[in-house]
Amino acid sequence: MTHDDLAFDQRHIWHPYTSMTTPLPCYPVVSAQGVELTLADGRTLVDGMSSWWAAIHGYNHPALNAAATAQLGQMAHVMFGGIIHPAAVALCRQLVAMTPAALECVFLADSGSVAVEVALKMAMQYWQARGERRRRVLTLKRGYHGDTFGAMAVCDPENSMHSLYQGYLPHHLFADAPQCGFEEAWDAADIAPFEQLLTQHATEIAAVILEPVVQGAGGMRIYHPDYLKAVRALCDQHGILLIADEIATGFGRTGKLFACEHAGITPDILCLGKALTGGYMTLSATLTTRQVAETISNGAAGCFMHGPTFMGNPLACAVAGASLALLAENRWQAQVAAIETQLRAELMPLAGHPAVAAVRVLGAIGVVELHTPVDMARLQRHFVEQGVWIRPFGKLIYLMPPYIITPEQLTRLTRAIASALA
Ligand code: PLP
Repeated sequence: MTHDDLAFDQRHIWHPYTSMTTPLPCYPVVSAQGVELTLADGRTLVDGMSSWWAAIHGYNHPALNAAATAQLGQMAHVMFGGIIHPAAVALCRQLVAMTPAALECVFLADSGSVAVEVALKMAMQYWQARGERRRRVLTLKRGYHGDTFGAMAVCDPENSMHSLYQGYLPHHLFADAPQCGFEEAWDAADIAPFEQLLTQHATEIAAVILEPVVQGAGGMRIYHPDYLKAVRALCDQHGILLIADEIATGFGRTGKLFACEHAGITPDILCLGKALTGGYMTLSATLTTRQVAETISNGAAGCFMHGPTFMGNPLACAVAGASLALLAENRWQAQVAAIETQLRAELMPLAGHPAVAAVRVLGAIGVVELHTPVDMARLQRHFVEQGVWIRPFGKLIYLMPPYIITPEQLTRLTRAIASALA
């Protein structure tokens, strides 16, 4: 990439959450292999981000490449309305088999945010079909569910974009975020604010939506599984649907295949995305029970009202199928456990640093929370100079590397964080 390309980028191309007038620097990546990104000048960076939770098997994976190439030889895309194809059937079979038995019906969509839109629409249509006009959703402060309007409306009201879009967003209910950490002794008082809101508004609430166990983009908070158990019990008690947004946590990242397993619960609706295709392309899935699907289908509309152009895209389905087949080989469990052990050993000592507020580790997730927000551009430059790709945000420096990372590569990442603190 030339200087001209980079100048064009700065002038014409928007990046996530950036300004067109004062854009943050962007690093030109020309290829990626395994756990390394290669910059245009030939330097390589050890990837600590898995491209935002997605590239769990690493980059340029032969099995995923082969699946994409084989599918390309058949067809890149075909509409899903009135048509079914082998890649979608194979993928949905795998999804139904690997998720809790009650989740039988799969809706394939474009991205994580759209999976959340689909889940919320399912909940709305479910109640409509039952003759009740329930329009409110109960969720948790510090949550993040995506950037489309429906998803934004259930993101943390202070930490997100609510104030910018006031008037456009529906008003939902926000319980205080869980306080009891994953490893602390469970304190039943933690669920009280949620329970109070739920019982107060029980007849208006269509669904509860939350990120099970790990609240990601809203603060990388890791909470007690008993909180999730209590939420499930309260939803059952009041007949309210529970939507688990496992878009970030799904496919092994927390040490369980799905984070709900830490609490032994099954949601009524499950959202999956990100690592679904091993990070190759965008695809999401929203799964639900036959009871929810049939109730929706027997309602006045007679169907579920969503159907994107690229629904069930064969290329994405084929790669996702190959990614799930790699997971089924079951190496991820030992890999994630080893990453967790090493993250604990190498990040926990940083908790004593005066700039550090907390260190949290679960599965292949390591978080160093600082007392004050970082200078992102400066810190990013430091990390690139150290030969690693780590993208901090706010007060958080965090790692969620590909599962195939070697101990040496992981040490480079943790050392880079330590050096940034120094
Ligand atoms: N839900 C959760 C928990 C997420 O972490 C994200 C993305 O970070 C989303 C939803 C939105 O997914 P996407 O960016 O694919 O729209």
